[in-house]
This record gives sequence, structure tokens and C-alpha cells, in this order.
Amino acid sequence: MALIVQKYGGTSVGSPDRIKNVARRVAKFKAQGHDLVVVVSAMSGETNRLIALAKEIQSQPDPRELDVIVSTGEQVTIGLLAMALKEQGVDAVSYTGGQVKILTDSAHTKARIQHIDDANMRADLNAGKVVIVAGFQGVDAQGNITTLGRGGSDTSGVALAAALKADECQIYTDVDGVYTTDPRVVPEARKLKTITFEEMLELASLGSKILQIRSVEFAGKYNVKLRVLSSFQEEGEGTLITFEEDSTVEKPVISGIAFNRDEARINVIGVPDKPGIAYQILGPVADANIDVDMIIQNVGQDGTTDFSFTVPKGEYPRALKVLEEVKKHVGAREVSGDDKICKVSIVGVGMRSHVGVASTMFRTLAEEGINIQMISTSEIKISVVLDEKYLELAVRVLHKAFGLEQAA
Ligand code: ADP
Ligand code: ASP
Ligand code: MG
Repeated sequence: MALIVQKYGGTSVGSPDRIKNVARRVAKFKAQGHDLVVVVSAMSGETNRLIALAKEIQSQPDPRELDVIVSTGEQVTIGLLAMALKEQGVDAVSYTGGQVKILTDSAHTKARIQHIDDANMRADLNAGKVVIVAGFQGVDAQGNITTLGRGGSDTSGVALAAALKADECQIYTDVDGVYTTDPRVVPEARKLKTITFEEMLELASLGSKILQIRSVEFAGKYNVKLRVLSSFQEEGEGTLITFEEDSTVEKPVISGIAFNRDEARINVIGVPDKPGIAYQILGPVADANIDVDMIIQNVGQDGTTDFSFTVPKGEYPRALKVLEEVKKHVGAREVSGDDKICKVSIVGVGMRSHVGVASTMFRTLAEEGINIQMISTSEIKISVVLDEKYLELAVRVLHKAFGLEQAA
């Protein structure tokens, strides 16, 4: 008998029939003698619908009120799933994040979990009930409803598994595991049996939306056994996120490709090349609470230099405004940018022991006539910024160039 936390995403609970299907799976695990805590997302499309509704009233929705609105999506699903389980003769009880007391900070729309009270859930499990918890939401110290950022139900699931010291956290979604890249973009993508925690962290942080980055961070911090599986298949082992590299198998050079359509590039041209300039440019951006990702500064010439960096696409107009002010203060020649870009990244721990990975990547893109606008590397990843129209092509040709469709 084990304590299992299962998380079901939006598509998996997208209709009454699918919710009944989830209930059947939960009931099956329960009948095997396991204790179950089930985390659910809003029905697919619901969070988008609620955000659009809010924007009809306020184009830049008040963050606290937006959280009040979007958290209702998950509240509907927990009630429906509890009913579906009762219909199948399984005792179940649903809780919102606030009812469990998933305590978060007060950063509305991107709150971080600080503590989870497990007393109520334990009592229910001891009483033989299935506990159903609304994903994506929490409550701050003042009692305000908060949400954890898009895709945040993954993080709710893993955080609950950590708090309850669950034996396993199973993320059920609409694909049967983590693939070498998004199978919607590359149909030849291959399912991975395992992926190292380090690689999963990179893929998630570079835009692969199969798992929210914070859920992977949580799993690492608290050593949660994490598995990604399909809610549409009866059998299947899914993909296990592993903490130790299996040294008996030779590592492929590249394990996966991630991409992100959600960034925009900003250039600050002709700034005086002197100490403190990076801080003068990026300090005000940070003060405006805008995350900066890739940063490139050119070697100075004639006493001036150029700066480029990326920001989330949604923050692009605001970032440009901040930089128009900065331009006046630092005496830059020009501020420009482009929000029609994408970032494509190759990831693999095998990169550590192989040379020529970068040149293969750049050659492959060059052969397709794809211009690289920015490059950044770390020990186990190489990212490039490209014109967004090349995204699919770039991912497909890189997938092939690194032989990812073949069995490992
Ligand atoms: P859920 O609603 O269950 O949370 P998401 O839509 O957030 O599901 O995440 C699942 C989707 O992630 C898949 O349908 C797939 O298109 C996409 N995806 C992106 N990268 C990958 C990858 N490397 N492996 C599998 N799926 C991926
Ligand atoms: N419903 C939320 C979203 O669409 C959270 C989640 O599904 O993980 O982002
Ligand atoms: Mg998701």
C-alpha cells in the first residue's frame, strides 16, 4: 500500500465523461489499497476563458481580483470529481487551496508555496477517503486567494506530494510521457523512459510546458518521485524523472529540444561603454518586476557598446517604456526590439563529454538558411533566438540532426 498523489491536467478533466474516466482510474488505485490525494486543473480552456472575461472588464486586470476569478476553474473540477467518485461508491472529499491551507506568498498570479498544512488531509486519508485538492491555487497569510502561475497545478501536485511524503507523484496528462520534443511539433519525437532531473529542469525552464518549472524544482528539493503519464491509456509506465544518472547506459549527446514562443528581444544601442552600465540598463527593468532572460553585451567600439536581452512577450510594451526612460539617462543612441522571435534550445547531460555539439547545431540551422539572432550556452544546453517563423522548421531539423527519433 502506498500514498500516491495524482495530478490530472485540463484535457484529462475536459468533459464530464473524462472526469468519470479519471474517477474510474482513481477508484482502481483505491481498490488496490492505496491512499490517494488527487490534484486537478480547471477543465481545458476554462482558465483562458476566465482571463479573457476579466480582460473585458479591465484590460490589465487587478492581480488580486484576477486570482479570485481564475481560481474558480479548479473549484468546479474538484466538486465534479468528488461527485463522480461518490457515484462510483468511493468516499471522497474536495478542498480548495485555502481550505487545505496551501500557504503562499502574496505575489498574485505567480505566488510561491511556503507551507502546506497536512492535518486535514491525513485525517481524511485515515478515514478511508480520497482527498481531492484544487490545483493552481493557495492562500496568503492575510487569507487572500492566490494562484501559482500558468501550469501551476503541476506544482500543487508535487508540493502536496512533498508535504505528505508521498511514495510517488503521478502527473497525468494528454501525452504518455516526456518526449524528446513536443510531439505536436515533431510527430517523430520519441518517448523517454527516464530523464534526469537536471535535464527536466532545463527543458521546463526553457519553455517545454509538459511540467511547470517550479514543480520540477520542488521535486528536486524534496526528492519527490515524479512520473509523467497519460490519462487516456490504461497501461504504460510513462516517464520517470531520475535523480541519479544510470552510468551503465551511454548517454545520448542531446536528450531533448525545448522551445519558447513567449519571449521578445530588446536592443539598447550605442550606450557609453563604462563600468555600471549593465546595472543602469537592467536595474530599472528589474525594479519594474520584469524578468530578463538572455543577455548579450557586445565588445565596445569607439567608447560605446550595444546590449540585447529578452523579456517575456507580455511584458514587452512595458519593458520598452522603461527603456525609453533609461535611454535618456544613460545617453543611449537607440532602443529597439522585436517580439516576433522564438527561442530554441537543445538540452543534454551528454554535452559535457562531447565536443562539436554547438557547431552541429549552427551548421544545421545554416543549411536551412535560418539566421541566429542570439546564442547562449550553459554546461548542458545551447539556446538560440530565431525569427519565430522558423520555429517548427528549426526544431524538426535539429531533432533529425541529433538523431533523436532513433531508439537510444
Ligand atoms: P496538462 O493540461 O495536462 O497540464 P499541458 O498542455 O500543460 O497538459 O502539457 C502537456 C503538453 O505538453 C502536451 O500535449 C505536449 O504538446 C506538450 N509538450 C511540450 N513539450 C513536450 C515534451 N518534451 N514531451 C511531451 N509533451 C510535451
Ligand atoms: N488551470 C491552470 C492553467 O491553465 C493551471 C493548470 O492547468 O496547471 O494554467
Ligand atoms: Mg500543464
